[in-house]
Amino acid sequence: MKLILRGHHLLCLQGFQGYGYSDNFIKNMNYINNLRKSKNTIISITNKADDICKCCPNLKNNLCENEKQNAKITKMDNEIISKLDTSKKYDAQELFNKITTIFNSKESVKYICGSCGWHEKCLFYKKLK
Ligand code: SF4
Ligand code: SF4
Repeated sequence: MKLILRGHHLLCLQGFQGYGYSDNFIKNMNYINNLRKSKNTIISITNKADDICKCCPNLKNNLCENEKQNAKITKMDNEIISKLDTSKKYDAQELFNKITTIFNSKESVKYICGSCGWHEKCLFYKKLK
């Protein structure tokens, strides 16, 4: 199975515990989260709307809410992408192992999670020192 994921969602998936923007969004998040843990899943990285955004009510004209918000989100994606190779298709389990090694402290995600409205609930963020 192939997935397209935007950079910052590689962190958000690790913190997902059932919260989200709509029932359809949550259902899709559960589906993607199971897939990314499966063997034989291949992931391409992007800083644009992805397989999670496509079920999000905030996606408007392929942008996250509007131009201003989309620019903020793209910046978060680019923080992650700068540590990866966007031309590569990653084995999902290897990719998440790599991401966990790189983004392993609150300091390492300060430009990604620092201004995120979910950080008080997010299991990924809460477990970081
Ligand atoms: S704090 Fe926000 S941006 Fe960071 S991983 Fe959690 S949900 Fe994603
Ligand atoms: S559209 Fe925006 S809020 Fe919705 S999943 Fe994509 S990045 Fe997140």
